[in-house]
Amino acid sequence: MYYLASYFNVVSSYNFVGAGNKCWSPLQSTIYLTFFLNIALILFIVLRKTYFSYMQFMMEAPLQVEFDPSLFEVSATEPAPQPSISTLDTGSPPTSTVPTTSDYPGALGFQLRFLQSSTAKSVTCTYSPDLNKLFCQLAKTCPVQIVVDHPPPPGAVVRALAIYKKLSDVADVVRRCPHHQSTSENNEGPAPRGHLVRVEGNQRSEYMEDGNTLRHSVLVPYEPPQVGSECTTVLYNFMCNSSCMGGMNRRPILTIITLETQEGQLLGRRSFEVRVCACPGRDRKTEEINLKKQQETTLETKTKPAQGIKRAMKEASLPAPQPGASKKTKSSPAVSDDEIYTLQIRGKEKYEMLKKFNDSLELSELVPVADADKYRQKRLTKRVAKRDFGVGPKKGKKLLVKEEKSDSD
Ligand SMILES: [Zn+2]
Repeated sequence: MYYLASYFNVVSSYNFVGAGNKCWSPLQSTIYLTFFLNIALILFIVLRKTYFSYMQFMMEAPLQVEFDPSLFEVSATEPAPQPSISTLDTGSPPTSTVPTTSDYPGALGFQLRFLQSSTAKSVTCTYSPDLNKLFCQLAKTCPVQIVVDHPPPPGAVVRALAIYKKLSDVADVVRRCPHHQSTSENNEGPAPRGHLVRVEGNQRSEYMEDGNTLRHSVLVPYEPPQVGSECTTVLYNFMCNSSCMGGMNRRPILTIITLETQEGQLLGRRSFEVRVCACPGRDRKTEEINLKKQQETTLETKTKPAQGIKRAMKEASLPAPQPGASKKTKSSPAVSDDEIYTLQIRGKEKYEMLKKFNDSLELSELVPVADADKYRQKRLTKRVAKRDFGVGPKKGKKLLVKEEKSDSD
């Protein structure tokens, strides 16, 4: 306001002066001087302001352009290290909530071996390679041999950890039952009473309970094999029966053996099922027999649906002789035996050939001789005429073979 007022004053006086006499009084000159100074000052302030606002704008504009993506980059990269840190925390097998059971030989070729033992009644510990399952008695010595192709770095450890096999129980920590924890028997040593898996005859064994998962494990330092031997043996004990109430409670368990560096980095992993019972030999025998039976039934069910399809296709492709054929099929089982035999055939080609052979045999059984002759006649005449009939069943057969293939796979 002050500037404006003085401006108008000065302008009016200037106009007056410009129009009138050219001689300026000292008062007038001071007024003009202050006027020009004021103008200069105003101009300076205005220019300065616009310059700064312009500069600010210029600075802000590129900043916003550059800042946003960088912000995005930050937001994109920021959460990434967090999981990597957390995976580092849970990366080592004992700390993960659900330990992995898959075999991992690693770069060192980590393997487990078990002593060959019979299924005799007296045996206290026996391993079934077919079942990958160790059967042992409570607190009895179970030698597990550790084999590596290349020696691990010094300070490496062998860890044993038990988990429940079934998915419904896998979250539970495998512990000893309250009864076996509380009795004085088998609780004399340094091993914590709750731990199911123990190491026998090794003063350097270390019992661990994971802070997060509370899972138990037992560690022993890895020892290189003695001269003339290619493996190291660790003696394990299982301190409860699989049937122990309040403990395993008949739930099957797996024992995971891992080879780790001193820092807990995984070098190799192997796992096997364990059953702790009164009669390891008998139980192994029974389970192996059951497995064979199971395999046989799965083979049968693999071939049975194919036969079912076969029959359905036969009935579909041969509608005319059905009444006669059904009579024959009703009578034919009485003559021939209806028992199903399973034949294991090596190689798909042979399998298909024999299947075709079986198909035709069964078909010949189903179709009465008179009807078969009729079909032969019909086929011949149709072949001559259009080849429709001949193509039809052939197609059906080809489809059958395809279906059987997928089933057998
Ligand atoms: Zn128990």
